[in-house]
Amino acid sequence: MDTYEVVIVGSGFGALAAAKTLGKAGVPFSLISSTTEHLFQPLLYQAATGMLSTGEIAPPIRRILAEYDSADVRLGRVVDVDPERHQVTYASAGTTHTIGYGRLIVATGATQAYFGRDEFKDRTFALKTVDDAIALREQILSCYERAHLTTDPDVKKDLLSFVVVGAGATGVELAGQIRDLAHRYFAGSFPDIAPEDVRVTLVDGVKDVLPAFGGKLSKYARAKLESSGVDVVTGALVTDISDDVVTVQDVETKDSRTIAAKTVIWSAGVQASDLAATVAERTGCETDRAGRLLVHEDLTVGTAKDIFAIGDVTSLNGLPGQSPVAMQQGRHVAKTITGKVKEGTPFRYRDKGSMSIVGRFSAVVRLFGKVDMSGPIAWVMWLAVHLMYMVGFRNRYVAVVSWMSSYIGDRRPHFQYTDKWDQRDEQVDTEDERAAA
Ligand SMILES: Cc1cc2nc3c(=O)[nH]c(=O)nc-3n(C[C@H](O)[C@H](O)[C@H](O)COP(=O)(O)OP(=O)(O)OC[C@H]3O[C@@H](n4cnc5c(N)ncnc54)[C@H](O)[C@@H]3O)c2cc1C
Repeated sequence: MDTYEVVIVGSGFGALAAAKTLGKAGVPFSLISSTTEHLFQPLLYQAATGMLSTGEIAPPIRRILAEYDSADVRLGRVVDVDPERHQVTYASAGTTHTIGYGRLIVATGATQAYFGRDEFKDRTFALKTVDDAIALREQILSCYERAHLTTDPDVKKDLLSFVVVGAGATGVELAGQIRDLAHRYFAGSFPDIAPEDVRVTLVDGVKDVLPAFGGKLSKYARAKLESSGVDVVTGALVTDISDDVVTVQDVETKDSRTIAAKTVIWSAGVQASDLAATVAERTGCETDRAGRLLVHEDLTVGTAKDIFAIGDVTSLNGLPGQSPVAMQQGRHVAKTITGKVKEGTPFRYRDKGSMSIVGRFSAVVRLFGKVDMSGPIAWVMWLAVHLMYMVGFRNRYVAVVSWMSSYIGDRRPHFQYTDKWDQRDEQVDTEDERAAA
């Protein structure tokens, strides 16, 4: 059995920050992740709407860490942790392996939460992984292609109706982009589909759009979305999704209404990745309602002094599930391991700001938790910050070119067709046959 001074589980923001800090210090570590890439999740919606390619936002983690001699990378899903033996069990290509650790860093992130309605998972599109972005991109394309072919106006209407559930950053960004696609990209390629034929509805149970910002930034985001043609339905919960119909119920009046849509995108709520429950059980660590590990202030878990957990898989003092938190926690833990930070030192988050894009040339930014900005300057800041955090010079260069052609021009360099289209042809036939019958 191989043993490493440090084993890191995951290849997201937290894991990468920890790995880089350990790599620079020459500490031998093995990073085990269930995906081959380091995924820049905040740009997933741009991959789903053809602005960036998935390769640009998801470079291989093995390649990123190749510059560190002390780094080992393994593809595998960690399924168990034994704090007494200091061992981790992971499954890879149908085989189970064991690896020993001196210190363990769990950075396995979060998945979508369906609030007890797990059947919604199969009826909606998500946006958490590269595969999710590709599936959504294919769906958007196929809806337009099918809308172009169908002779039934009702089928066409449903195909061109998109419902986004959850008005956090992901939902707002997606709703704005799908509207923008209708106006500035597909309008040029489908003369029979007017932008007004495309309906985008953004639904959330709370009153505010972008509730994490609140106040005038939320109002600004709502006004921008509405002026672009997004139908914003807040204070309304999704109570059912079936047969391409979404039922929403007003939280106050309890009145229900339905929205027909072939595409429903779920971006409401998160729950901890599976490994959290195992770690909690093995170490006696408490979890919150979303299954996140309630870590100690120094980011250790339960009774295990040598197991740390960071990022979205954890909950600490109400810190947001955002990449800067995961990155700062990754560095804090790595520095604790290398001795640069004294053992037991509490983690302190430095809030440099949060931001969300709302549409073309518009974004909202809150700097250092208090300075609010919105509009084109905020939008430029958003682009600059995201560019800075993208991994690799080539990816940054390609992103700038893609953004220029998408935002200033009307191109989407990465909308391409796939073989999935063949499978959807059959559905078009069935619809047309149904309409004819
Ligand atoms: C669509 C979207 C948009 C977002 N936009 C923003 C934004 O604008 N700004 C912002 O700050 N934050 C944003 N976030 C949140 C941000 O991406 C997360 O806070 C951040 O990714 C958390 O980092 P992490 O390292 O904890 O987990 P992740 O980045 O999710 O990484 C988890 C890793 O663990 C791996 N993994 C999971 N389970 C296992 C297992 N059992 N064994 C091995 N590996 C495993 C996964 O493959 C993945 O590599 C967004 C998130 C999404 C989904």
